[in-house]
Formats: sequence, structure tokens, C-alpha cells
Amino acid sequence: MDRVPEVAVIGAGIVGLCTAYALAERGTTARVYERGLPGHGQSSGQSRIFRHAHDDARLVEFTRQGRAVWDEWADRLGAELISQDGVVALGGTVPGRLRTLRDVGGMTVRSLDSAEVHAHMPLLADYSGPAMLDEDGGAIRTRVAVERLAAALGDSVVTEEVISLRPTGHGTVEVRSTAGREEYATVVVCAGLGTARLARDVGLSLPVQPAAHVRLTFQVRGAPPERVACLQDSSGDFGEVGVYAAPYPGNSRYAVGLSQTVEIREDGSFADPEALAALNDRARDYVARALPGLDPEPVEYLHCWVTSLPWSEDGMAVWEADGIFFAAGHNLFKQAPRLGRALAGAALAEGLEDDLRPAAELGRSG
Ligand SMILES: Cc1cc2nc3c(=O)[nH]c(=O)nc-3n(C[C@H](O)[C@H](O)[C@H](O)COP(=O)(O)OP(=O)(O)OC[C@H]3O[C@@H](n4cnc5c(N)ncnc54)[C@H](O)[C@@H]3O)c2cc1C
Repeated sequence: MDRVPEVAVIGAGIVGLCTAYALAERGTTARVYERGLPGHGQSSGQSRIFRHAHDDARLVEFTRQGRAVWDEWADRLGAELISQDGVVALGGTVPGRLRTLRDVGGMTVRSLDSAEVHAHMPLLADYSGPAMLDEDGGAIRTRVAVERLAAALGDSVVTEEVISLRPTGHGTVEVRSTAGREEYATVVVCAGLGTARLARDVGLSLPVQPAAHVRLTFQVRGAPPERVACLQDSSGDFGEVGVYAAPYPGNSRYAVGLSQTVEIREDGSFADPEALAALNDRARDYVARALPGLDPEPVEYLHCWVTSLPWSEDGMAVWEADGIFFAAGHNLFKQAPRLGRALAGAALAEGLEDDLRPAAELGRSG
């Protein structure tokens, strides 16, 4: 790339890639700074859940709009990006969430009896409590999404770490990286765990809570089922109230994680060094009780940092200062194409959507 582009995006996780792709569809080439490999931060691993169910109706609507963007981009990128097998949710939160989903409308959701739960989620033990199916949800093909987006962006993704950001005072932002210094009209920071540090350069203190997360992958016993849904289990019937699980492409492996994370100190160290191993054991024990269709010995471990906002585990927001936008939140994989379009619009001086401003606390329960 010879000419310096107007916009810099910092971070080539799923949010930064989607932001740059959304800018490209508007005719603007951004430079994307990535200190490591695209998609190897919080966006790493083989699958994520796309679900519409959230406590905040505004976030349900945002997610519904996002589903359409995933479909549009899947067509354009020539790959399946979300599986067709839906998401089964279990537990006492189901009736309230079904009501919210129906109030917002525009997606196919319904309650399930125990035989239907088994048909959609054949790996699960017998279950007869409240359950629903989000038919338009599914397993996000995370690797394919990252690879196709990065390939579409080509050499606009550069392997450089951004060291500092500084508004120049004449309407541009200076980006100093490990390999140079450039000025841009605007910068979008999608740096995951690195976002809060860069925000301090312009005097913003983001309330981002970093933590560590464990996800284990298990082999399906016998032949992989032809169809298998993602699972969100808040029932407590199998000893845990916050479980998220999703199949790998081909359905021969299934990834299972507890929503609980492990707190870390300011310097990134663990307050309790045993906590990660304890979460690991709980996830394995859950599989032994709840998912007889899986061999309970994990075949893969994913340990990853996550960043969340104080008002909800699904919360997200964008801070703005001096022509720089900082995106933060958790469970952002599913939201990334829609969020990317919103960030692209903001970078092109169309203004930031009100629901994404921090004061809106998008995702807040109740
Ligand atoms: C195990 C697990 C399960 C999850 N399950 C779900 C799910 O089911 N559904 C869902 O929607 N979400 C889920 N999430 C959350 C989702 O994966 C993340 O919210 C999302 O991937 C965040 O993407 P990102 O682009 O914001 O951050 P990241 O992927 O972390 O990308 C940030 C990038 O910025 C780079 N970077 C940082 N600082 C700098 C710098 N100074 N200079 C240059 N580059 C820099 C990093 O190297 C990194 O690649 C899960 C997360 C984990 C870990």
C-alpha cells in the first residue's frame, strides 16, 4: 500500500477485521495494525455461538440486524459462516427471553418439549425443564470468517504493534507503531485487551474488566450427528448455571465453556493461580453429567483473555475522543459485522449510533 489511508483500524480480531471490511464496502481502504496473527486474540478457536437471546431488547434488535449482515457477507465471501442447526437454550430464563424475542420479532424462536430438545441436541442427557430453540442462531465458523475477511483485506493488514496514539491538534491522529509513524483522519481501536491501554493515551479510562476464560473441546462418541445445535444451559439441572457450547465444523467435536471467568490483577497475574484449573475441572464434570454423547476427556484446551463491561456479560459500547473510536465489550463475535458497519459509519463522520454510546449501556439487564 503506497498512499497512507484516511482511516487506521487497530487490531485484526473479528471486530477490527469486520470494521475494515465494512469500510472497504463503502469504498474506504483502512490500514489495519495487528501485532500478532489476525484472529488469534479473543477471537481464537474454532467456534462461537450466534444467539439472539439477550435480556436487553435493544441488543436483541442489534443482533437480529447483525444476522442479516452475516448472511450478506457469507454470500460475498463464498462460505458458510453460521451453521444451520440453531441454538437450544435451557433453564428458568427461557420464558422471559422468549417473550423479549417475540416482542422484538423478526426471528424464528419457539419453546421445545423434551423430545424436541433431544432431536435438536442429541448429545444431551434427558432434560424436561423449560427449553427453546433459536432457529436463526447457530455455530459461527470462526476460522473461516477470520481467514476470508483477512484475505479480502489483503496487504492492508500490517504486522505492527501500535505503541501510542496522539491527536495532533490539526485534525489528525498520529499513530506510532513498532515500524513507523503515520497520521490519519480517524482511528478505530478494536484491540481487545489492548484497547483500554490505548484509550488512556487520550485521557479515557474505560471500565473494561479483563479476565481469563477456559473452553474445553470434546470428541463426539461414535459417528457425528448430522445436525446438532449450540447449547446455552442456565438450568442448573446438571450442576452448572452458565454453560455455553458449540459444535466444530463437521460436528465431530463440541466445545464447552462455563460463562464464569477468572479475575486477573492489574498486571495480568492471577489472584488465585488454582482458579483456571478449577474451572477446567468443573467444565469436564459438567460434560460427564450433561453430555453423554461426548467422551468426557478433553481433546483441546482454549485459554483466552476476555474483556467485559460492568453492566452485563453481553454489554458493549464505543467511546469517542479526538476523532478516535474505542470499541469494547464481551461476546462480540456474533455482533462484529453489525458493529463493524456502525464503526465504519462513525469513522466516515456519520456519527456514532446512540445505542452504542457508553451511557446507553447496551446489553444491560432489566
Ligand atoms: C472461549 C471464548 C468463548 C466465547 N464465546 C463467544 C460466543 O459464543 N459468542 C460470541 O459472540 N462471542 C464469544 N466470545 C467473545 C468473542 O470471541 C470476543 O468478544 C471477540 O472475539 C472479541 O473480538 P475483538 O476483535 O474485539 O478482540 P480480539 O480478538 O482480542 O482482537 C484484538 C486484536 O488486537 C490486537 N492488538 C491488541 N493491541 C494491539 C496493539 N497495540 N497494536 C496492534 N494490535 C493490537 C491483538 O493482537 C488482537 O488480535 C468468546 C470468547 C472466548 C475467549
